[in-house]
Amino acid sequence: MSVPQFKRVVIKLSGEALAGEAGFGLSPQIIKSVAEEIKDVVNLGVEVAVVVGGGNIWRGKVGSEMGMDRASADYMGMLATVMNSLALQDALEKLEIQTRVQSSIVMTQVAEPYIRRKAVRHLEKKRVVIFAAGTGNPFFSTDTTAALRAAEIEAEAILMAKNNVDGVYSADPKTDPTAVKYDELTYLDVIQKGLQVMDSTASTLCMDNDIPLIVFSIMDKGNIKRAVQGDKIGTIVRRSL
Ligand code: UDP
Repeated sequence: MSVPQFKRVVIKLSGEALAGEAGFGLSPQIIKSVAEEIKDVVNLGVEVAVVVGGGNIWRGKVGSEMGMDRASADYMGMLATVMNSLALQDALEKLEIQTRVQSSIVMTQVAEPYIRRKAVRHLEKKRVVIFAAGTGNPFFSTDTTAALRAAEIEAEAILMAKNNVDGVYSADPKTDPTAVKYDELTYLDVIQKGLQVMDSTASTLCMDNDIPLIVFSIMDKGNIKRAVQGDKIGTIVRRSL
């Protein structure tokens, strides 16, 4: 019988992780597969919150490069995360996992508003809580959302599921053959070396609040469960080693 290492986690899924090979839009097969993995973790008794990105639909940076006002473009990005969140909720409920979407931008017809105490209550009842619409603020990312919500709900770790890489490397492994994968790192290493793990706002928030981050590939089925069980997969980033 496998024993989970964490009681409560935040799973960060990038939008691209839900898009599959195409890199944009939503892949029903991938969403189903991710939902099955989340179900496995819930069945271990772990309380699961999920932060979903929106990069498979829209990124604020792209909009601003096209000449849009950055704040407006970022709000579009936050709305994209709501679409992904509803798709994941649907897939989880098809597997009979009770799921609530809480949105940082109020839209009561489709999601609950984000209320920290209510989110914690859902988690205690073993419902999956999906945090949609990022932090609700432009100029932030969903990585920062994961760090912020993890601190607020006192999650013991952030599990960062990547679709294009299986951990943190010294350089981009796709373009640099000398790139080496790290097993463990500190947040200071990430910031000082400029490693492409999460943005610096998210990294400092995790560091200041002492929240460990496990970065791994979503492409190997069962990895979310492995990460929860403390198996050595991907890269672990901590405040200190
Ligand atoms: N976003 C934002 N504030 C937040 C979270 C997200 O403005 O708190 C916007 C931002 O434009 C971002 C987009 O939403 O580009 C999608 O989020 P993100 O890029 O983090 O998604 P991911 O890369 O994880 O798919």
